[in-house]
Amino acid sequence: MGKCICNDAFPATLRSPGRRASHSTANNMTKEMFAGLEWTATALAVGTLVWGAAAPRSQLFGPTIRRLNARGGIALTFDDGPNPAITPHLLKLLDRYNARATFFLIGAHVRACPELAAEIANRGHSVGNHTDSHPNLIWKTPTFIRRELLACREAIASATGNPPLWMRPPFGFRGPQLAAIVRESGHQAVVMWSRLAWDWKAQNKAPVIERLRRVTNGDIVLLHDGDHLELRGRRMHTVEALQYWLPRWKDAGHSFVTMDRAAPGSMKP
Ligand SMILES: [Zn+2]
Repeated sequence: MGKCICNDAFPATLRSPGRRASHSTANNMTKEMFAGLEWTATALAVGTLVWGAAAPRSQLFGPTIRRLNARGGIALTFDDGPNPAITPHLLKLLDRYNARATFFLIGAHVRACPELAAEIANRGHSVGNHTDSHPNLIWKTPTFIRRELLACREAIASATGNPPLWMRPPFGFRGPQLAAIVRESGHQAVVMWSRLAWDWKAQNKAPVIERLRRVTNGDIVLLHDGDHLELRGRRMHTVEALQYWLPRWKDAGHSFVTMDRAAPGSMKP
């Protein structure tokens, strides 16, 4: 009476150690499971943050413009200039096809060639802010980011007569602090892209041409006429790829639009 039937059903020598073993196994399994869950949660959180900070379509750290609607035309955008070795060739080429584009300039390069920055604007292209020295902004303080944006903004305004309306973060990297600073420093929005040419390394024109094959109306296309590491970067492959595509895009009936001229209603995240 009062005895535990369970305990009696098993020899004492097997019972207790067995239960201890099963408890300890269960404990270990639970610990491992929680450790696994913790690791998975951390990996997911890190993955989400990396995606949020770098993916063009991410709106996690504030709204960005990534494309136009299908009637919006093609928005060609050129980063890291002005480049005295390349930009004059590009301007001539764009003129030949009556195509207007948007140039996201680096402040330091603008101060090195203010006449070229002015020439870009005088020919009807939009000019955007690509920071003063092209740093990765993800981990930078608001004070640092503000200083970068304002120095570039000042360089552009002084060279062209107009402050930029748009901002593109170097490497496309943005932290949660960026969107508010972009707006409070006088810009309308962060502009990302829907197509990219992977043209930021010296290369032949053929792969760049291939990567631009799917460009169509509504795309914001990321290209480079400059190099953030040097003023006269080798970017002729980009000009040559556009020599191939501009007449073909024209023949296909595509139009070209700058970010300044794009209808606000046509801009999409
Ligand atoms: Zn850049």
